[in-house]
Amino acid sequence: MAKTLFSTYLWSRGIERLDVVALTHAHADHMGGMSAVLSNFRPRELWISTDSPPEVQSLLKHARDLAIPIVLHQAGDRNEFGGATVRVLAPWLDLVMRESKPNDESLVMKISYGNTSALLEGDTERKAEMRILDEQPQADLLKVGHHGSTTSTVPQLLQTVHPEFAVISVGTRYVYGHPRTKVLTRLQDSGVATRRTDLNGAVTFYLDGTVSPQIVDLR
Ligand SMILES: [Zn+2]
Repeated sequence: MAKTLFSTYLWSRGIERLDVVALTHAHADHMGGMSAVLSNFRPRELWISTDSPPEVQSLLKHARDLAIPIVLHQAGDRNEFGGATVRVLAPWLDLVMRESKPNDESLVMKISYGNTSALLEGDTERKAEMRILDEQPQADLLKVGHHGSTTSTVPQLLQTVHPEFAVISVGTRYVYGHPRTKVLTRLQDSGVATRRTDLNGAVTFYLDGTVSPQIVDLR
C-alpha cells in the first residue's frame, strides 16, 4: 500500500468530493494510491468485487476505520448517479469463486449518460471479455483491458463494443511491454482513435450525453 497522503491530480482538477471509489481488483497498480484517496475524499461508498484477497485487507480495514461503506458488486448490478447509469458487467460470482487470478475478478463497468457511454475494463482478460459480449457492452469509449496486453481486447469484444475512442492506461517505464503491437494494430484496423497515457500523458473524456465523447489532452 502506498504511504503517500497526497492526491495531487484530483486536487489539481478542483475535485473535493467523490461519491464512489471503485477498486477493480487487488493489484498494486490499481490500488496503490487508493488509501490516500479514501482519506482525502471520504467517498460515500467503496466498490469492490470480492473482499477475499489478502492484498486488499489493509485497504478494507482503512475504509472501515473511516466508516466508508464497502459494497460488493457483481455482474447485473446497476446504479444511477445524476442522470448517469453505471452498470456492472463483470465479474460473475461463479468466476470469482473459482478463479485464483485477480485479473478475472476485475470489476467491469459501463457508464452511460444520454447517448454516450464508456466501458471501463480494469484488467479483464479473454474469458471474461467473451462473457461480456452478451451484456450489451457497446460504448463510444473503451478503456482498454489490462494495459493493452494480448490477453485482452479480443477481436470479438472490439467488434461488439465498437468504440470510437480508446484509451490505454500504461506507464512510460512499464516493465511488461504493454501495450502490445498486436492490440494496437487491432484498434487501428477497427478505426478506433486511441490515446495512451505513456505517450499522451493524462487524457480526459467528457460524456456530454449528446455527441461522441470529447477528448481533452491535458498536455
Ligand atoms: Zn493492471
